[in-house]
Amino acid sequence: MAKLYYDERNRRTLAELAPNTKAAAMKWYAFCEKHGIEILIYDAMRTEAEQRANVEKGVSGTMKSYHLVGQAIDFVPANPEGKVSWNWYDRDDIQKAVKEAKRLGFTWGGDWWNFVDKPHLQYDKIAYGQDKVLAGPPTTSVPKPAPKPSTSVSSTSVYVVKKGDTLGAIASKYKTTVAKLQAANGIKNANTIYVGQKIKVPASTYTVKRGDTLGEIASRAGVTVAKLQALNGIKDANKIRVGQKLKLQ
Ligand SMILES: [Zn+2]
Repeated sequence: MAKLYYDERNRRTLAELAPNTKAAAMKWYAFCEKHGIEILIYDAMRTEAEQRANVEKGVSGTMKSYHLVGQAIDFVPANPEGKVSWNWYDRDDIQKAVKEAKRLGFTWGGDWWNFVDKPHLQYDKIAYGQDKVLAGPPTTSVPKPAPKPSTSVSSTSVYVVKKGDTLGAIASKYKTTVAKLQAANGIKNANTIYVGQKIKVPASTYTVKRGDTLGEIASRAGVTVAKLQALNGIKDANKIRVGQKLKLQ
């Protein structure tokens, strides 16, 4: 059986999931593999700060996200050349994969009427936050979901707030914007920072890794693909190369 284009990365992401969700997701992944359904699984486990940033960006609708408890994945349809598109969910094979995911106990965000979220599959066979123990004996130590692999843009630095600091001053020190600092740290009111608070400062550059797409890098960095293309003089958004250093702002 041929491996999917994003196989290595997909498996690494699936490994972050809570145990029962992971077992079901691996069955689903095997189904996709068997039928040659090309997908990129680009997100699984999220921290609260990441989730808050997503809510503020409008790409997620809830702070009670199944991603926080390792019970959800996000995927995007791909093709055998590794191109991905968020416009391909209607493809027959993707719909077949969605059907199989539902059969295995996942809910598909594409079915939601209030906040359509086509990349999103969440495992509802187990109540929210309860997927901690593997089904069946032996119930020995359950590994905690692994931290996010280093594929994310977050080669962030951390700044500790000192007396007299403002978010604006910190932003200008790091050549970023207040809005970006707010998004990265889930700060609702830019005036409410406190001494000793750790502020994550988003990276200003990113080095392309295998399996990356410009769309994903853009979404993780909170900018548009067009902006990245403009910043880096990229004519064709599908042509980035491993090791390429991209300006993010
Ligand atoms: Zn999701």
